[in-house]
Amino acid sequence: MARRKKPRFLLALETSCDETSAAVLERGRILSNIILSQDEIHSPYGGVVPELASRQHIKTIDYVVAMSLSQAGVSLEDIDLFAVTQGPGLIGSLLVGLTFAKGLAYYFHKPLIGVDHLQAHIEAAFLENPQIEYPVLALLVSGGHTSLYFLEKPLSYQLLGKTRDDAAGECLDKVAKFLQLGYPGGPVIERLARGGDSSRFHFSLPRMKTAGYDFSFSGLKTAALKIIRENRLTANHQLLRDFLASFEETVARALLENVHKALEEFRPAALVLCGGVARNTRLRTRFSELAAGCGLPSFVPSPRLCTDNAGMVGALAWKKYLAAPVTAADLELDAYPR
Ligand code: AMP
Ligand code: MG
Repeated sequence: MARRKKPRFLLALETSCDETSAAVLERGRILSNIILSQDEIHSPYGGVVPELASRQHIKTIDYVVAMSLSQAGVSLEDIDLFAVTQGPGLIGSLLVGLTFAKGLAYYFHKPLIGVDHLQAHIEAAFLENPQIEYPVLALLVSGGHTSLYFLEKPLSYQLLGKTRDDAAGECLDKVAKFLQLGYPGGPVIERLARGGDSSRFHFSLPRMKTAGYDFSFSGLKTAALKIIRENRLTANHQLLRDFLASFEETVARALLENVHKALEEFRPAALVLCGGVARNTRLRTRFSELAAGCGLPSFVPSPRLCTDNAGMVGALAWKKYLAAPVTAADLELDAYPR
């Protein structure tokens, strides 16, 4: 019987929200990671418009795939494995990537590996730091999700808590929208808050009525909007900088409170922060301060790998493949919105 060639090149696709991304990996190492953002398309609406997002993925996915292959210096015929984000995300957007990946895997008779988007975000930290020791406590903060995970060992994900209402990124985006600062709100708030006095405005932290590790950000959003109205804050107001610094600081504190709470019960060997909001400098700093204060190593992916990207999807697919090799394309793979 002819021995199967060991896989070498993997092509991964990510279309869960508003980034169209394709990456080529060689034995789990990224050769190319193309990310095409749709920010400009959604910006006039102050948030992602699902229908526009999926249409844009359809328009750009073949270009993004071609770019990733060309930058990696390989052709589709060289690809041994295909990987794609299955969910969670916007269903129409997910289906574009999934259908495209199924088509490729079917045509080239190669395995197709489905990947969970949130687990892929966590994997971004391991991509740059393969030495991270388990068990790991991972805080994932993005535009659609705010979740705390415990990983006892590789590929084991225990969800400890998630947001009951808005995600942290969504809270930043909504406050920025209310102030007409533009979309996405997180990076604008970070820029405008720079040098502001973060103790100028006081917000009380959200309190959960039940035990556990869930988050809540809708109360914080309402409190922020109340302060904006009471102080008649606008995009040019002289107190805006201080307000945004105070708000950003409060969001970071609300996120870290749960991490701190979980340390005692779960005793991790390392801490990971990931997701789009993990690009935020203040949050990154507070996170590493918390870890250092507890004598734990902490890992945050570089900003480019915090954004939705196919590189992290490919890295997780590679790990999954090594743990449980598959030989055929699973054409039954389905997208899941949540
Ligand atoms: P994702 O959902 O992972 O694609 O991340 C998008 C979210 O990250 C949006 O809510 C953005 O506002 C937020 N975000 C991106 N960059 C930053 C930043 N520098 N500071 C705070 N939030 C950010
Ligand atoms: Mg995004």
